[in-house]
This record gives sequence, structure tokens and C-alpha cells, in this order.
Amino acid sequence: MLEAYQILALITGANIIVLIICTILMKKYLTKKIMFPKTRLIRGAGVSNDDLDINNSIFLHMTDGIIAFDRDGKIVLINPAAQKMMNVLPEYKDFDDIFGKLHLNINLEKIIYLENWTKTEERFQVEDKFVNAYFAPFKKENDRTVGVIVVLQDITEHVKLDNMRKEFIADVSHELKTPITSIMGYADTLLEEEYDKETQSKFLSVIASEARRMAKLVTDLLTLSRNDSNRTSAKKEQFDLGELVKKCQDKLAIEIKKKNHEVKSFVTADVPLVYADKDDIERVVLNILTNSIKYTQDGGEIKIYVGFVYNDAYIKIFDNGIGIPESELSRIFERFYRVDKARSREMGGTGLGLSIAKDLLDRNGGNIDIKSEVGKGTEVVIKVPTKAKEEKI
Ligand code: ADP
Repeated sequence: MLEAYQILALITGANIIVLIICTILMKKYLTKKIMFPKTRLIRGAGVSNDDLDINNSIFLHMTDGIIAFDRDGKIVLINPAAQKMMNVLPEYKDFDDIFGKLHLNINLEKIIYLENWTKTEERFQVEDKFVNAYFAPFKKENDRTVGVIVVLQDITEHVKLDNMRKEFIADVSHELKTPITSIMGYADTLLEEEYDKETQSKFLSVIASEARRMAKLVTDLLTLSRNDSNRTSAKKEQFDLGELVKKCQDKLAIEIKKKNHEVKSFVTADVPLVYADKDDIERVVLNILTNSIKYTQDGGEIKIYVGFVYNDAYIKIFDNGIGIPESELSRIFERFYRVDKARSREMGGTGLGLSIAKDLLDRNGGNIDIKSEVGKGTEVVIKVPTKAKEEKI
């Protein structure tokens, strides 16, 4: 994934290139005519391609916004992208109509008296859009400034990604800080005073379980980052889903016994072999089954069905646990999202299990769906492609 500074460097680089191209194109117009054929280009109204030469066509269709002003700040050119980005109304005539309400650090006079080729960058918000703007004076051959060019770029998606990255780092730091604080607290207490054996082992067991939670969090984060960078693509092979489910059930036997759950699995006859990365699918089933075990009161009932529809084999895991409120269902695949943070932590959860499951299934051409009712239970359906489906694709 690109780092924020790399993205910004790319945007800046791209903008400078656009700015230079535009200035060259503008130079051609402005030096010859000083003004554009206003009637056609301004506001892009009624523009017919026949009237436009190649340069006009570039201005009209480029995704970056371009606005040119004369020395008095009157609009001499504006392309449709700029009109859309800046919500330009037909009655807008000059620089202040467009930029005045944004309270920028820049005004027409400042730009005009800037050094040749000096650019000024501003970032602002227009309703729900984030826009990066480059302002540059335009000079004629005799070095007289004849106008100002503005190149606009819609950076809403970059800003959103950057915010997501910041949020993710804040979440990771918070998730790691909680167990570290607890480990340090108990360790310091043990070092400061003499405690009886029983208290000592109580404190040590908290330290051990918090350390395990940190280790799980780091493993989960590594899985996510491996998926994100997609460095290792899925190692697909054919295998039996029923057998995999049995293996997962055996792996979780201790947790199942601890909570005294009854787990029943049913495999429909004739389920074809699936074609996917076996380790990935095992991880998905373990995550989902662990959730059913965790979020179901002691003595619960968990049923697992393995079957086949069209070209997908499926695993359905039902539990009669606490359930998930409908309003939360759309968010549970988000990283670190938990319905009840305290309960999830208490159970050793990281809030990453379902997002990992979804990522892994995406990577293998499968999918996951969850239905749930509070107080009644949860049903998770995992679909895994078979070789037949792979061949059709
Ligand atoms: P966690 O590590 O917290 O279990 P997950 O990503 O696996 O994280 O799950 C996200 C949240 O979805 C959980 O915190 C829990 O609130 C809810 N959840 C997941 N599975 C179940 C289930 N079977 N029953 C009830 N709630 C569940």
C-alpha cells in the first residue's frame, strides 16, 4: 500500500505536470487572443465538438478542473470538471464568486505578483468534496502577468483513505496499549511486594492471558497485512469441506468442553471437493466457530451443516447464543468493530476475526453472510467455490 506521503507526492507531481501543460496551452491562446472564445468555453454551455480544436477538447474532458482568470479576476475559461468541483453557478463571473466564500489565504493580487512559475497550493472543502487547488500567474512574453490559472483536483478518495489509515493506526495503538498497561501494572505490583503463592499465580495468569491476547492481535494484524499487500496469493488445492470442518471442531474441542456446548455437524451426501487455499478456509471456519463458542451462553447448541448449491459448497454454522442487533450487522465486518467491546475483550477477541474471514474468502472467490437475532442466535453461511466453478471462470 502506498504511504500517505507517497500519495501526496504523486498528487503534487501530477498537478505540477497538469499545470505546466495547461500553462503552455493557455500561453498559445492568451498570447494570440488574450481571451478565449468566451461564448463557447465559458461554463461549457452549448459546446459542440465541431467548434473545438484539440486543446479545447482536452480542457472539456479532463478530470482535473481548470479555471483561467484575467488580471481583473474575470473568468475567461472554465472546464466542466471545475464547474462541478466548485459548484459553479451560471451567475458566477469572477475569482471571488468562486473562491471568496472559502476564506483562503490566497487572493488574485497575491498570485499576480508572485514570481514567474511560482505556484501556490491550497486544500479546501466544497460541501462533501475535498479539493486541492494550484494557483499560478500567467505571464506573456514581455513578462507582463495577463492572468491566473487554477488547476483543481478532487482528492476526496485520498482524504478518505488517509483518514481510514489514521483511524486504523489509532485503533491498533489502543488495542495494544490496553494489554500492555495491564501487564505492566500486574508485573510492577508483583515486584514491589511479597505476595502469597495464590495471589502471585492469579496476577501471573492475568499477565499470561494479556500477553496471549497481544500475540493474537499481532498474528491477526500480520494476516491482514499479508492479505492487503497480496504478496502471497492463495495456494489453491482441492479438498473435502466436511473433513476440514471436523478438523476445526477437534481443534476447538477444549473451548467447546469448557463452555459445555453441544456441537453437531451434518454433511450432505455428494458435496464435491472445494478448490481454495486450505489454510485460509480453515482459518475462516476456526474464526466463525470460535465466535459461536464465545458468544453463546454455557450449555449452548451449535449446529454445522456442510452442503452444496450450484457451484459453491457451503458451511452453515448456527448457534443459539446472544445474537447481534440488526442495526450492527452491516458493520461487523469492519476492522476492530465489536458489538460489545468489553465482552469481546473479556473473551480474548480482537475485533478482527470477521474482517479477516471476509478478506480470506474474497481472496479465494468465496463469500460470507450473517443473519442474527438478539437473544435467539446467529447463522453464518460461508460459500467456497468448487473446481467446476473455477473452470467456468
Ligand atoms: P471478535 O474478536 O471481537 O470476536 P469478530 O470480528 O470475530 O471480532 O466479530 C465482531 C463482533 O461481531 C464481535 O465482537 C461480536 O460482537 C459479534 N459477533 C460475531 N459473531 C457472533 C456470534 N456468533 N454471536 C454473537 N455475536 C457475534
